[in-house]
Amino acid sequence: MSQDTPRRDFVREMVAEDVASGKFGRTICTRFPPEPNGYPHIGHAKSICLNFGVAKEFGGRVHLRFDDTNPFTEDIKYVEAIKRDVEWLGFTWDAEYYASDYFEQLYDFAILLIKKGTAYVDSETEEEIREHRGTVTSAGTPSTFRDRSVDENLDLLARMKAGEFPDGAHVLRAKIDLAHPNMIMRDPLLIRIRHATHYRRGDAWCIYPLYDYAHGLSDAMEGITHSLCTLEFKDNKDIYDWLVREAGFEKPPEQTEFARLVLDYTVVSKRKLLKLVNDGHVTGWDDPRLHTIAGIRRRGVTPEAIRDFCESIGVARKTARTELATYEHAVRNDLNMRVPRVLCVVKPLKVVITNYPEGQVEELDASYYPHDVPLTGSRQVPFSRELWVDRDDFMEDPPKKFYRLSVGREVRLRYGYFITCQEVIKDAAGEVVELRCTYDPATHGGNAPDGRKVQGTIHWVSAAHAIDCELRLYDKLFSIADPEDVPEGQDFTSVLNPHSLTVVQGAKVEPSVGADAVGSRYQFERTGYFISDPDSKPGALVFNRTVTLRDSWAKESGKS
Ligand code: ATP
Ligand code: MG
Repeated sequence: MSQDTPRRDFVREMVAEDVASGKFGRTICTRFPPEPNGYPHIGHAKSICLNFGVAKEFGGRVHLRFDDTNPFTEDIKYVEAIKRDVEWLGFTWDAEYYASDYFEQLYDFAILLIKKGTAYVDSETEEEIREHRGTVTSAGTPSTFRDRSVDENLDLLARMKAGEFPDGAHVLRAKIDLAHPNMIMRDPLLIRIRHATHYRRGDAWCIYPLYDYAHGLSDAMEGITHSLCTLEFKDNKDIYDWLVREAGFEKPPEQTEFARLVLDYTVVSKRKLLKLVNDGHVTGWDDPRLHTIAGIRRRGVTPEAIRDFCESIGVARKTARTELATYEHAVRNDLNMRVPRVLCVVKPLKVVITNYPEGQVEELDASYYPHDVPLTGSRQVPFSRELWVDRDDFMEDPPKKFYRLSVGREVRLRYGYFITCQEVIKDAAGEVVELRCTYDPATHGGNAPDGRKVQGTIHWVSAAHAIDCELRLYDKLFSIADPEDVPEGQDFTSVLNPHSLTVVQGAKVEPSVGADAVGSRYQFERTGYFISDPDSKPGALVFNRTVTLRDSWAKESGKS
């Protein structure tokens, strides 16, 4: 489905109704509200595509709001990564906000709540508060501080803000209902003391709002209409609604929950990603094995593919795991239509064409794209007496249906000639080190004038012209689909796939790519989709495999 005709999911149905009925009396407005405590991942891409997509489709606005109310975990480098990644995905926000800019307003709301008698300063410890909260089957018990006077509450809050108390001495709580069936509504904590330096506000504040307190009110202050969040916030909706009502907002935003993206064989949780990065299981946030946006980008996936993928999985009310094949399908589909095909030999085996004149080089016309791709373009590839072919395209003792090289068999060289393997040269250890072949000059361009057919076409590069390169072949990061599903006492790092990265040195790529910019994407014919990595140096290129050409089940087929 194209970008312009997005599928109508339940969120879009709802927004369409709200727009039609004029429910909010203002332009619809969504927001993407990341906490800047890690790099965005593919799960965030789903939320970004939804929030930015809905705003655009319904002529609304979208805000990028950093939910940065925790001084311990947040950092400007994450803010920068998030902005870069949202832009890379192809989206532009109408306004940029920071929850940390709302500390003043949130403080004023707290005063308002205290005056209304719906908030109080509790001096129990957070642990005592938890203990007194009751259980799902029994009501909580009131703190001895629950009925403090308004004046005392106002005084304590002011002194909390002034820094008179250590961390944990007091908290501000909403005064709601200690028997509420939703545990979150049993006098939730709103503000606590944290003597910590905030990456934006510095030491201006030593009291910090909790997520529930900051989130709904930030939405309301910004005039958000549709606050779209993931299912784990379902129970937070009550406090969200309570707060925006108490604070007096007319036509406040409404929270709607949708299913998170959970992708097989990977993790989409900043906490887990941070652990992988910090413990050195991967090379950094942009390790191409990670499904962070930075990793995905370095791996060679395009923003279009990510958007197509997010659209293909849709937006549902119930969480279901997404198969990696679904993701890779979107990636392949996209690359298939946009990248040039070039020749790269992964495991080189020398071929000498004994009847080709020594010292002769001819340039063969090679088109970049197959016929079913609407792009055109071509380059010349040099052909000479000594070539590299892939070791896997030769077998000494081939089964009947092996259509590639072995003694006495004829194959087509892509863009080139038919060659027939005449003789195998081995080293002292018995390993095949060279194939002596003959070529048929009449087959220039890939067809024999006498109409004889060959079944196999293989890729190759001219030995004297090829550029040495390193290939980084990526596989699944985890060895089981659900890395949460580990035996008692083990953590998700115990199921990391030890073979998630295979580095191939000494691969040989055709010279035409030598001057291309870092970040150029290709299909290496018969091998996979690749992108050149920033680690590339002139004459020593590095390529990351974005994705194989097809699902691995098809890989073993002998036919090319
Ligand atoms: P993480 O668990 O990775 O830390 P988070 O929900 O804490 O994720 P936030 O920065 O708070 O990360 O998320 C910003 C927005 O992205 C939220 O609205 C959140 O619901 C959404 N989001 C996060 N993870 C996913 C996911 N896997 N699928 C869809 N949306 C997600
Ligand atoms: Mg969060």
